[in-house]
Order: sequence, then structure tokens, then C-alpha cells
Amino acid sequence: MKIIFHPRYTEVYTSDPAAGAGRIEAILKELEGAYDFVEPQAASVDDLRRVHVQSHVESIQREKHVYEIACLAAGGAIKAAQIAVGGEASFGLIRPPGHHASPDHCWGFCYFNNIAVALAKLQDDKLIENALILDFDLHFGDGSSNVFEGTEIKYFHPDAENRGKFIDQIVNKFNTEKNYSVLAVSAGFDRHVEDWGGLLTTDDYRTIGRLSREAAERNCNGKRFAVLEGGYNHSVLGENVRAFVEGLA
Ligand SMILES: [Zn+2]
Repeated sequence: MKIIFHPRYTEVYTSDPAAGAGRIEAILKELEGAYDFVEPQAASVDDLRRVHVQSHVESIQREKHVYEIACLAAGGAIKAAQIAVGGEASFGLIRPPGHHASPDHCWGFCYFNNIAVALAKLQDDKLIENALILDFDLHFGDGSSNVFEGTEIKYFHPDAENRGKFIDQIVNKFNTEKNYSVLAVSAGFDRHVEDWGGLLTTDDYRTIGRLSREAAERNCNGKRFAVLEGGYNHSVLGENVRAFVEGLA
């Protein structure tokens, strides 16, 4: 298991909750020393353009600080994906998040669709044919869904009113969806009992990590990676990420 991390992810690049001071540090505290860290490079404009239109890239470029960190986040997702297809699981400890970024617009603290940029590069490099995205964030990843609608890359966002049904939806999806070259996970932790969604326990994140590992081992030679999306209660975010990563490893 590799953790993809760049020190600049701790920079406060804007004023939304995903960019909050101390958010990344809360996760770092739990993962440092336990896993090997890998530093990514920024995504190039060519990388972004596999997913986003030129006018969208230019609109983000006007905010220099945001653009720099957003390119590093997309580059972090690329690095995580490359490590996964190389045979080792990985987790991108990145921000800003990406799943609300569509080809031509973005919202919800997102700028570029990190997981989509990563999967599009793997496809272009002929490293994968297709993929399954599990997005367990509280919010539906409209960006990821928009990018890949009608393509070989399937997007799945479980949503249920109780914990048991939420986990069951993931189990059922993993039991029925079998044709994918890599499992990519949009890992948002804002559905925790002490976060905005008020539903899942820390141990549920360990379970989701384990289910993801087992599905990847059954269907795609264990090729799996995850990237950080939401999660805003700094007092529980670190242990939730650690529980998920331990299950995924
Ligand atoms: Zn969210």
C-alpha cells in the first residue's frame, strides 16, 4: 500500500471546507509512519484535456493558487492509478476533491475530476480497457457520472437510509459487476455519524475498504486505488481514512 501525498496539499488555497486548515494534517497524523509515501507530479494540460474542455481549464488557470494545487491533486490521482495497475494498492491523500467536476464546469469544492483524469490517462496509455468507480462519498459525483456516461467506465454511488442497506448495496454491486480492469474508489468520508451525513461508523469504512480489496482480487488481479473526496470533521476524519486504508491494503 502506497500513500500518494504532496506537501502542498496542506496549503489553504481557498475558503471552502475541503481546503480548510488542518484537514490534511488530521489524516497525515494517522498515516505517517504506517505506510510508504510517494510524491506525485502535477498533471499537465494534456492530462486535464482528456476529460475537460479547454475553456474549463482556462477558467481555473485564472486562479493561480487553486490551479497549482488542483493540478497536483489530479497528478496525485494519476500516480495512485499508475501504482495500482503496476500491482500495488494505493491511496491518494489529495485535495481539492474532484467528483463534482464535469468536462465543462465544476462546483462543490472541486476543480478537475481527479479520478477521471487518472482513468482517462490509463486508457490512453493502453493500461486498462475499462474500470469500475465506487464513490462512497455522501454526495453523488455528478462530474464523474457525466464524464463517463455511456462509456466502458462504470460509475456507482451507493445511497441508503441505514448502514446495513448501504453496505448491502456495495456488496450487491461487487457481486454483479465483474468486467473491469481496475477498481477506482472515490473515498469521501462525509457520511460518517459525526460528519454531515450522520450514518456510517469508522468500522464501516474498514469494511468498505475490505470489500473493495476482495472485489479487486476476484475480478482484476487486485488492481485498486482510492482518492480522497469529502470528509469535513477533522476530529474523526483521520481515523476514518486510516480504517478504510487498512481494509483496502
Ligand atoms: Zn461529499
